[in-house]
Amino acid sequence: MNVILSSKALGTVGTTPAPAVDSVRPIAELPVAVIGAGPVGLAAAAHLLERGLEPVVLEAGDTVGAAVRDWGHVPMFSPWTYNIDRATAALLERHGWERPDGEAFPTGRDLADRYLDPLAATPEMAPRLRLGLRVTAIARTRVGKVKTAARADQPFEIRTMDRQGREGRIFARAVIDASGTWTSPNPAGAAGLPALGERQAATRIRYGMPDVLGTERARFAGRRVVVLGSGHSAMGSLLDLATLAHEVPGTSIVWALRRKELDKVFGGGSADQLAQRGALGTRLRALVSAGTIEVVAPFALDAITCSPAGSLLLAGDADGAATTIAADDMIVATGLRPDLSFLGELRLDLDPALDCPKALAPLIDPNVHSCGTVRPHGAAELAQPEPGLFIVGMKAYGRAPTFLLATGYEQARSVVAHLAGDDEAARRVELCLPETGVCSGPATAATIEKPEATVPVASGCCGPAAKTAPVTASGCCGPRSAA
Ligand SMILES: Cc1cc2nc3c(=O)[nH]c(=O)nc-3n(C[C@H](O)[C@H](O)[C@H](O)COP(=O)(O)OP(=O)(O)OC[C@H]3O[C@@H](n4cnc5c(N)ncnc54)[C@H](O)[C@@H]3O)c2cc1C
Repeated sequence: MNVILSSKALGTVGTTPAPAVDSVRPIAELPVAVIGAGPVGLAAAAHLLERGLEPVVLEAGDTVGAAVRDWGHVPMFSPWTYNIDRATAALLERHGWERPDGEAFPTGRDLADRYLDPLAATPEMAPRLRLGLRVTAIARTRVGKVKTAARADQPFEIRTMDRQGREGRIFARAVIDASGTWTSPNPAGAAGLPALGERQAATRIRYGMPDVLGTERARFAGRRVVVLGSGHSAMGSLLDLATLAHEVPGTSIVWALRRKELDKVFGGGSADQLAQRGALGTRLRALVSAGTIEVVAPFALDAITCSPAGSLLLAGDADGAATTIAADDMIVATGLRPDLSFLGELRLDLDPALDCPKALAPLIDPNVHSCGTVRPHGAAELAQPEPGLFIVGMKAYGRAPTFLLATGYEQARSVVAHLAGDDEAARRVELCLPETGVCSGPATAATIEKPEATVPVASGCCGPAAKTAPVTASGCCGPRSAA
């Protein structure tokens, strides 16, 4: 999209023409830039269109849903009902889209093929997408980070790089950063730094969720594989490896995790309001009990050495004792973190522990609770000191692990309402999420208001769905000091 009205050469230095200087349209005429064409970024774009605002969606991948496709083989634990945004569905249905069965569980690939691709093909969305364009930096035009006067009057200048390494820039009146966290996995070292030797062992380490039973089967079949981490991604890989071990003799599995209490890791089982999510832990518990999966916990990885033959030795501390784990291959699923590098010239107020918008941290801090629900929140909690900048979607959770799409869709709706000047709608955040069935926070006797759009209604642990999303609420989704 060409948002620059004119450009003129200022003069020459020797024989080399000076770079062109751009004139920028008045800020009110500029589009809202959405970074990332994942499900939440596209939902934000759909809400912008519904409100008569102009979006431009910048996506590093060659397709929409690039991150979702990366874990395309993974069955989602939330059914379609929770995975579809209202404004997006309304746009799709105007073009004859058939809504999938709300009770069915898509894979990541289904989500991309049956929901995101049709959306990208609509005549409203297609011309607003800029694929293969990575955002590398954002600043306030001609102002920088320090200057305060008239800051909000300056457009955002968004620097991009295309597949050929060519730089470009786009000017915008506001920025909605929905770039997720999928491409910034945490390293294997227990300190949050790469373990000593981790980089040298890179060819024997797979971050994220490999397609163990599909395209990457040959890599893991008949091998001794160690899985590091305790979240749903680690669980999914362990379950796939157990299936592989059943099919291919010689495949063995070690599960190494920092946490000691496996009960919390296994989750709420049948008490989880998302049955598929609960089932992950239940199946894993059975495999551990049967000895199919060997567990080393708590294990804090310190160093990795790779033998000339290519096998790995993981050295660390297991409950106070120096321990080594030998393996042929390693899957690291120790969580994700946001890429904040391109926001460095903007004014941010992030939680020091979670790297998420500060006001959101008390609602999602895994030190306090793991219930899977979150108090309703929107533009007010997601706003940054930089006027017009919002972080939404998976990235809004920073390093916290319990993000659900339904949360991101509500964030997007509220932020766009605010940008459209409808602050009443922006404040009216409505969200009920399914609980995991376990929570480390204190329970409250709460009454949940049932929103029109989402079911089921969560009870107790995360407190009432307040209309204005106060961040000072008590109970397990309240401030960390309450715990
Ligand atoms: C394996 C797995 C299973 C999950 N299952 C569920 C589930 O069942 N239910 C549920 O509700 N949630 C689930 N989630 C959580 C979450 O809903 C998903 O991660 C979801 O994809 C997040 O959507 P998003 O739009 O915020 O980010 P993403 O889907 O990660 O999209 C971000 C997009 O931004 C692009 N991007 C990144 N950096 C840049 C840049 N610098 N410039 C331009 N573009 C950029 C990426 O290429 C990507 O397309 C799951 C997550 C994972 C990892």
